[in-house]
Amino acid sequence: MKTERIYEDNGMIFRFEATVMRCSACGDGYALVLDRTAFFPEGGGQAADTGTIRDARVLDVQIKDGEILHYTDRPVAEGSTVTGQVDGEIRFRRMQNHSGEHVLSGTLHRMYKANNVGFHLGTQDVTVDINVALTREELFLAEEEANRAVARNLPVRAWKPSAEEAERIPYRSKKEIGEDLRLVMIEGVDCCACCAPHVAFTGQIGMIKILDAIHYKGGMRLHILCGLDAERAWETVYRDHSRAAGAMSVRQTEVSEAVDRLLQENAQLRHALREAKRKEGSLLAERVPRDADHALIRMEDADMQMLRETALASAKNRSGVYAACCEDGGTLTFAIAGTGDLNRIAFILRRDFAGRCGGSAALIQGTAAISAEKLEELLSGCT
Ligand SMILES: [Zn+2]
Repeated sequence: MKTERIYEDNGMIFRFEATVMRCSACGDGYALVLDRTAFFPEGGGQAADTGTIRDARVLDVQIKDGEILHYTDRPVAEGSTVTGQVDGEIRFRRMQNHSGEHVLSGTLHRMYKANNVGFHLGTQDVTVDINVALTREELFLAEEEANRAVARNLPVRAWKPSAEEAERIPYRSKKEIGEDLRLVMIEGVDCCACCAPHVAFTGQIGMIKILDAIHYKGGMRLHILCGLDAERAWETVYRDHSRAAGAMSVRQTEVSEAVDRLLQENAQLRHALREAKRKEGSLLAERVPRDADHALIRMEDADMQMLRETALASAKNRSGVYAACCEDGGTLTFAIAGTGDLNRIAFILRRDFAGRCGGSAALIQGTAAISAEKLEELLSGCT
């Protein structure tokens, strides 16, 4: 049967009375058909409402063959009169986002001839795909213009036009033309085919905020949030931002400059550290006695390249095996160079010490579960 769709005429009704026309078992739960409903079934990029019908929890709402099915966790007697309660906070936030998206899309279309070619109202944010690439400044101007439409508190009108009225009125999403065409109009801002519930006045949308914009399929994908969700997102960003400002002891307006400065300093320090390590490695290599046939140089915080350079420097103009290593927990990272039997060392490390190593006849490198003492012992046996 055709259920009366309360949400189409008034999006702000969350509590309603209805009669249960049918209740049938469906999977683990039940599917209810009511004579009228304020529950919005999933569609047009917006998720289904949740809530309760009498004491049954409404987990999902879908349209199947023109019928609105409320999927519940328990049965409700057919023929009984029930009270339905939509989870109003969730639904209101969705309407803020959805109506806000209409305002922004209409504004982008008016200002830049940008068409909305994809819309999704997700759990984290709302994505809007447009077919024109815009600069950050252009997007900001559109966002500001959209927020002006919010401030004007314009009525949001939703209705099903007659065929000739639909012919006459220009609206977005022409592809949805059909018997069930429903238009959502905000005078001077937007007119769009849409099946979802909306706020009654643009003032209810609150803030419209473009959080991010990336180039996507020749146009752009915008991540937006409106109303209470935008306010919450702003609070998260604000907290993060002020924490960063506090940590760097700068004003909030100076955070990005301070980060640039820190990154630069950090790069310089890393470079200086590398140079110091390299110098340390060559000094340690020089200290290996001239008559030694093996040596193990222990280093701290050295990467593989430094270990390699140190091992090669110690092995230079000598015969025997020379290694540099760095211990981290139970794992030893090492590089071993020289004229000794490196293949045999690699073989033993792999066989007895869970070694992961390889290289050439003159240099091997890798990691193994071996102590520095044990490795030194192994080196002395393979010179
Ligand atoms: Zn819509």
